[in-house]
Amino acid sequence: MGLNLTQKIIKDHLLEGEMISGNEIGIKIDQTLTQDSTGTMAYLQLEAMEIDKVKTKRSVAYIDHNMLQQGFENADDHKYIQTVAHKHGVYFSRPGNGICHQVHLERFGVPGETLLGSDSHTPTGGGIGMLAIGAGGLDVAVAMGGGTYYITMPKVVNVKLTGNLRPFVTAKDIILEVLRIMTVKGGVGKVIEYTGDGVSTLSVPERATITNMGAELGATTSIFQSDEVTHSFLKAQDRDELWKELKADSDAVYDETINIDLNELEPLLAMPHSPDNVEKVANIAGLKVDQVCIGSCTNSSYLDMMKVSKILKGKTVNPNVSLVIAPGSKQVLNMLAQNGALADMIAAGARILESGCGPCIGMGQAPATEAVTLRTFNRNFKGRCGTVSAGAYLLSPETAAVSALAGELTDPMTCTTDIDVTMPDKFYINDNMVVPPAEDGSKVEVVKGPNIKPFPLNEELKDNVEGKALIIVEDNITTDHIMPSNAKLLPFRSNIPHLANYCLTPCDEEFPARAKANGGGMIVGGDNYGQGSSREHAALVPLYLGIKAVLAKSFARIHKANLINSGILPLTFADINDYDTISLNDELKMENVIDQVKSGKIIVHNESKKLDYEMNIELSDKELKMILAGGKINFIKNM
Ligand code: SF4
Repeated sequence: MGLNLTQKIIKDHLLEGEMISGNEIGIKIDQTLTQDSTGTMAYLQLEAMEIDKVKTKRSVAYIDHNMLQQGFENADDHKYIQTVAHKHGVYFSRPGNGICHQVHLERFGVPGETLLGSDSHTPTGGGIGMLAIGAGGLDVAVAMGGGTYYITMPKVVNVKLTGNLRPFVTAKDIILEVLRIMTVKGGVGKVIEYTGDGVSTLSVPERATITNMGAELGATTSIFQSDEVTHSFLKAQDRDELWKELKADSDAVYDETINIDLNELEPLLAMPHSPDNVEKVANIAGLKVDQVCIGSCTNSSYLDMMKVSKILKGKTVNPNVSLVIAPGSKQVLNMLAQNGALADMIAAGARILESGCGPCIGMGQAPATEAVTLRTFNRNFKGRCGTVSAGAYLLSPETAAVSALAGELTDPMTCTTDIDVTMPDKFYINDNMVVPPAEDGSKVEVVKGPNIKPFPLNEELKDNVEGKALIIVEDNITTDHIMPSNAKLLPFRSNIPHLANYCLTPCDEEFPARAKANGGGMIVGGDNYGQGSSREHAALVPLYLGIKAVLAKSFARIHKANLINSGILPLTFADINDYDTISLNDELKMENVIDQVKSGKIIVHNESKKLDYEMNIELSDKELKMILAGGKINFIKNM
């Protein structure tokens, strides 16, 4: 039985486990990327592991998210990332060089290699034939340190593309069609592999638009073959020697197949407030538009921008529309400047932003109250654009540009402009905004401004664990309750001591002060404790406050994993009625903890009430080792 492309790359990188879908497997990571929003924490974690030099083939640190410098915090983060990268063998892509995924595709991506990135849109790299996966900062730090990356062996979905796209129907419409079919939950535990004769009609940046937005399916990643199209792209990037042919075997087997005839596709868009809320553009044409944003890691390639400039050339943006354009990389911006396309955009009335995430992550360009904003981006949940009452529509650059001129949502197939653009034989190559790592990192001083604080580390698990019940919370406490995230707190992502002052304050304002006064203790939670985002900070701030265990009726899966990563015991009540017998400040105590944890059952004495609670602790072999070591970083250090 032949292998599909996903299985081939996994097989080449397999370190542990069997390739049976649903099994846990460990794979070797060749490359990593970080962006500034998650990068500070990843590098603090790398430093905490005491690893001198990264062990990957190539690691790159990008600055693209928080480029507004209204206070010292972001600038401090950038300086820290630059110096820590220089010291530890990591390439540094300076602010202005572009969005991580766009630049990585252009200058670093290698077919057949694995890429782990601390950003959910890392699967963009699948456009060049990489197995590119988004992960938390700690996983990326571990991979930089040479550690294995563990995933569940995915199922593989074959999306078979046949035929050709018609003019003004785009790669964005392909991924919107896949989202319509599969929905935002349909990709969980799966890799989406694109096959069929339609694949060879798509350029690498078009393929990358599709793999980028595969993240919205919830998929592990998405991938295209590496073929002559990939070869030409790498040649034009002066990286010819890195090409190799990669494709599925002719008798490869897939878990599911979806067929899409490109000839039949029409321009599509995702309506507010979900990327799978897909509709034909023609069906809602005429909607008045206030803002149009073109760019982001989904749609900011040279080809995208050239098509936009051709549509805008010699015309004027509608007076009721604010059109902003952010080319995805310095390479793209430079080429547009050199060939006059940038001048055409400016002449038409577009506002040009620097090459970065900008409005996609809500850094500037918040639309007006109740505005209609058309975006070539990948996400449109309520409030992401910065204005909760605005409605964000996700669509192709072509639809965006045509609508910016008309002042209303317009089917681009009504446009008569010739927008035929061919891939250049040679891209403009100038890597002077990429700082290579130092030859000798030992001489590099890492600069830590006042906002960069060391990463909190736990200790080896002790045989006696005791402390007060410092807070008792209800069911369904989210990671947002545990570690609130808002514009005021965002700049402090590398300052755990500061963030700790806000831990669980939506439930009890006194909790951080109580935890500090008692030198730590325990949290008592209800059902589904820690639901919501995968935010690592929701485990790191309790660790900083000295939390040794969380006793809950049940845990949300990812938060439980994050607690284990931090060496905090996640205990569940064998009898949930015990929860009701605990009061604030009760003295809780555990003995023979190491043996009990190994057995999966642990007795917690409530000294204040003279009661014993039977608690469960469910850990895999690997998680048990982490808990005993006092968290993942200590575990890696011990290796
Ligand atoms: Fe994330 Fe948007 Fe930046 Fe892409 S452009 S990396 S989606 S913030």
